[in-house]
Amino acid sequence: MEKYNRAFIINGKDVAARLRAELKKEVVLLREKYSITPGLAVVLIGENPASKVYVRNKARGCEEVGITSIQHTLPEGASQSELLALIARLNGAKDVHGILVQLPLPKQIDPETVIEAIAPEKDVDGFHPYNMGRLMAGIPVLQPCTPYGVMKLLEAIDFKVDGKDAVIIGRSNIVGKPMAMMLLKKNATVTVCHSKTAYLPDKVRAADIVVAAIGREKFVKGDWIKEGAVVIDVGINRAKDGGLAGDVDFEEASLRAAYITPVPGGVGPMTITMLLANTVQAAKSQLIPLA
Ligand code: NDP
Repeated sequence: MEKYNRAFIINGKDVAARLRAELKKEVVLLREKYSITPGLAVVLIGENPASKVYVRNKARGCEEVGITSIQHTLPEGASQSELLALIARLNGAKDVHGILVQLPLPKQIDPETVIEAIAPEKDVDGFHPYNMGRLMAGIPVLQPCTPYGVMKLLEAIDFKVDGKDAVIIGRSNIVGKPMAMMLLKKNATVTVCHSKTAYLPDKVRAADIVVAAIGREKFVKGDWIKEGAVVIDVGINRAKDGGLAGDVDFEEASLRAAYITPVPGGVGPMTITMLLANTVQAAKSQLIPLA
């Protein structure tokens, strides 16, 4: 494992590649044994350039592991009922095992209504209240991809979460909150911080695991990091030099952390990989043996 300053770098690209290779085998097995090819429907509404890039990358990921991806594109001005009608059709389609509606949505469409319209067993983003509730109850089915990917990174370095103090900065439904539930399930003692948290640096200084999901470049300073901590940087920010930067000051933090994820190349590659894993899992759970 490559080292930078004091810290080992957790290479998300490598971990993702290993998981994708395993998924590829599972897909072959599903096809050979049950004549089923996992199918992912990706719905894109409008012309958001970032969303188009994400959708393209998701399609590429599907192709790599043998999942059939079908893209449905609706115009920027599409109505909520048009989108709901499409989702209803996809919910009933036998060859579609996963449905993903790319966020953000145009303002005439309510994201909560749309998320709740997706059949929970096809909700490969893990955002449906059913899947969120299962996660909260400690009996997860389909889990949100980014925090799920973070758990796989911790597994990859064989880090024992049990009994550790974890601090998560950020409480969004897609990262911070589900992250807290996943770490709690693995017996960490979890503190979830946000913009109103008092004495944030002190809280981070007590953490064995720090997960930063804020959306502000170099927000987490090196002297906030406890010696020997694991630092997971979820943030993706456009840096002043035009490149990508995380939420953690990587240079400084790597002087104290035992493990750290880079940006890019850390959590990022895991998110799409876990979407692929969820799609395969969804296909398996919808499987009706032929004989
Ligand atoms: P949100 O904007 O939904 O949430 C940001 C969180 O950060 C909020 O809970 C907010 O607190 C908190 N926050 C903001 N300012 C501060 C502050 N000064 N001190 C402490 N907490 C603060 O973002 P997301 O969760 O969607 O994403 C977070 C980052 O992760 C972004 O950079 C995003 O691009 C990236 N991301 C990366 C992914 C990947 O695949 N690598 C996937 C998803 C996201 P409050 O709730 O009080 O407002």
